Parts: sequence; C-alpha cells; structure tokens
Amino acid sequence: MKSPREPDLELRGKLIRSLGALREMLPGSFVERTRACGRPGCHCADGKRLHSQYQISVLIDGKPKALNIPAELVEKVRQKIEMRRRFDAAAATICKVNLKRFLKEKKDRQV
Ligand SMILES: [Zn+2]
Repeated sequence: MKSPREPDLELRGKLIRSLGALREMLPGSFVERTRACGRPGCHCADGKRLHSQYQISVLIDGKPKALNIPAELVEKVRQKIEMRRRFDAAAATICKVNLKRFLKEKKDRQV
C-alpha cells in the first residue's frame, strides 16, 4: 500500500539520507592569503610571486581565529568546509518543508 506521492516528503527524506556523507564537515570559511617570507634570495622577494598560505577562518569561543592549513591537507579541508555549506542548505530546505507542513496542519485545524 503506497500513500499518495508527496514530493516535499520525498525531498526531505532524500536530504536527510544525504547528511551522513557530510559528517566530516568543518566550520568557518576557507581563506587564501599571500605573503612574502622575507628571505632576500627567495622568488617572493620580487613582491609578485608570493607564497600562498591557506587558512580556516573560524570563530572559536566567539573569537575570530585564522588557523593555518598544512599544504597536504588543503584540498581535504576545502571539501570539508564545503560540506558545511551543503549541510546548512539541506537543513534550511528541511525546515522550509516542515514549516509549510506546520502551517497546513494549523490551517486544517481551523476548519
Ligand atoms: Zn619567500
């Protein structure tokens, strides 16, 4: 016995099932900074070919922090920060579906 198709519930179920894949998400935003290291013989001394340093910009206990990301972890960390964005988008959509259902339930009671 299958209930009538409810696209909102199908969407909600699909989103919920997708959240497990986002469990490694990290907070904050991904930042690239460039800088000169100060060594006179280095290629960065021309002021153009600077070094890249990647960071997580994040609030820790309400204070903004910039955490350096080791070079070999940059791609992984970038993906994990992107997971948070997808998690938030999924949560927002789920809330929207549930709010719509709440409003409908409320309205149905008033009849
Ligand atoms: Zn340098």
